[in-house]
Amino acid sequence: MAEPHKIMTIFGTRPGAIKMAPIITAMRALPEQFEPVVVVTAQHRRLLDQVLNFFAIEPDFDLNTMQPRESLSERTSKMLHHLDNVINAAQPDMILVVGDASTTLAASLAAFYHKIPVGHVEAGLRTYDKYAPFPEEMNRRLTDVVSDLYFAPTKMSRDNLLAEHHSIENIFVTGNTSVDALGYTVRADYHHPVLDQIPKNHRILLLTMQRRENLGAPMRRVFHAIRDVVETNPDVELIYPVHPNPDVEAMAKDLLGKRDRIHLVEPLDVLDFHNFAARSYLILTDSGGIQEEAPTLNKPVLVLRSETERQEGVTAGTVRLVGTYPEEIQRAAFELLNDNREYKKMAQAPNPFGDGRAAARIVTAVQNYFDNEH
Ligand code: UDP
Repeated sequence: MAEPHKIMTIFGTRPGAIKMAPIITAMRALPEQFEPVVVVTAQHRRLLDQVLNFFAIEPDFDLNTMQPRESLSERTSKMLHHLDNVINAAQPDMILVVGDASTTLAASLAAFYHKIPVGHVEAGLRTYDKYAPFPEEMNRRLTDVVSDLYFAPTKMSRDNLLAEHHSIENIFVTGNTSVDALGYTVRADYHHPVLDQIPKNHRILLLTMQRRENLGAPMRRVFHAIRDVVETNPDVELIYPVHPNPDVEAMAKDLLGKRDRIHLVEPLDVLDFHNFAARSYLILTDSGGIQEEAPTLNKPVLVLRSETERQEGVTAGTVRLVGTYPEEIQRAAFELLNDNREYKKMAQAPNPFGDGRAAARIVTAVQNYFDNEH
């Protein structure tokens, strides 16, 4: 009987953990084929740990690299250095990375230096704008240059990879594993004190906002715009899990704090966030991952950015890009609050991001890679 393949997964952020967890779970269910080795860089310590707890994942290596206010160069070089030791110690047969974080780039580069094959989960997303989102666009493009297997969530991301001359045999259209994650989290009997205090006939707007390029003036404009939407619609309640960035926290408190029907809460655990999303009427966000998750829950999304690497949602009609200026945000929010036909059109558009079976496809492709005598 052949030895199981030692597959090292390396991630460091909350979305990275949410997207890798279904793959680790799928590999654990096949112990004769796979020996998963979990490495976390803890790029986002607190936000990462709650996801690990929920999925009962205990890292084999925890680099705990995060320092407040370090530069991107410091962060990436420190991770590269630590990953060298981890790879030497564990000697994996393959390394899986996910998404577009600094961890993704550092881990794929470390794998390349050790001549270990790399599989990129969520490969092929592009804006083709070097600085938007920053540094994620370059993290994912550089990662794809050194990867061997590409797990593209959609046909559009596959086509981006083909246009960059990656070989079709190495690209697998799998769906996004964040859709798989919802299968573990969303529950019909879910309760939470914040949700329990909201009258049943009120509609919940769920907001998340934290991207680097939105800090400062864009965030201020958005908060003002959303505050107006809540004030002029008496059956609307806003829930905003505030990201633990001190600048974001201060502005949220200043512009949205202590107001009727506005609930500022701590960042929610993944179980809570997914269930809050499932109970909401409309989601406003600058997050990438939430654009993929919301259509599974049949929730329209207003994207607080002027571009997206997830164009599939725009094409399918599940999300709308509204930028960060009040006029467009308010026009779209008012329409979706008042025009039931428009609302239904968005809420019921088909989900282009997957069917919840991405992890199984990825694990099969990894097994086939070894079966084909690599
Ligand atoms: N999320 C969460 N708690 C929150 C807000 C978001 O668990 O309070 C989850 C959300 O479901 C999604 C991911 O975190 O899976 C999105 O993370 P983020 O916005 O940090 O990153 P991005 O998706 O833009 O990479």
